[in-house]
Amino acid sequence: MDVAQKDDEKCTDCGKCFESCRYGAIDPDFTLHPDKCEGCAVCAMVCPSDAIRMIERKAGEAYISDTRFGPLVHARLHAGEEASGKLVALVRQRAKELAREKGKEFILIDGPPGTGCTVIASITGVDLVLVVIEPTLSGIHDSKRIIEVARHFGIPALVCINKYDINDENTEHILDFCEVEGIEVVGKIAYDDTATKAMLAEKTVIEFSDGKMAQSIKAIWKKVEKALS
Ligand code: SF4
Ligand code: SF4
Repeated sequence: MDVAQKDDEKCTDCGKCFESCRYGAIDPDFTLHPDKCEGCAVCAMVCPSDAIRMIERKAGEAYISDTRFGPLVHARLHAGEEASGKLVALVRQRAKELAREKGKEFILIDGPPGTGCTVIASITGVDLVLVVIEPTLSGIHDSKRIIEVARHFGIPALVCINKYDINDENTEHILDFCEVEGIEVVGKIAYDDTATKAMLAEKTVIEFSDGKMAQSIKAIWKKVEKALS
């Protein structure tokens, strides 16, 4: 990602860059903070003295790995970097190319928690969003926002409630909300330490056991597959 670099020798203190930067990367005394810069290049465009230029900065790395389930495209964002949305877009682009090249039917994107730009970068242009909600206040709040975003982009959304039995009241609230909004709840997964045990055994839940949790996940996948077809 590009980052702005200022040449103080050329700067005439006109203040145009400070007025134009939407990311607070330039102080009122026109000091430029590269760590806050989002690389939009507006300051370089408005500077009448040609005192700002954009230089390349490495914000992270993207990887393609082979797994026993097929290729996995993933990335590592360097600490303090802001280009997470861009990195998600890069990962998605690589995944698309790879899926085309290898004739894969689906690309599964594991979206991040929360509601930030990485979430938007993860769901734009997809065929279906599966919103995994935990029955906590923050989980419900974030999920409602994601559903709104999906709606905004005209993307169908399904809901799955994870650890549904940790708070019955909140789970009821989610079910009521989905009913009112006409969103299908494709499954509920109970709190279970199988997931942790599976991780410790370096296996997926499905591989590790055919217990309740694995059954719930399989049932959810069937509904997701049906919705996709
Ligand atoms: S490139 Fe954009 S974000 Fe960075 S300092 Fe200039 S105006 Fe601000
Ligand atoms: S716009 Fe250019 S000349 Fe004006 S304060 Fe910023 S760097 Fe200096």
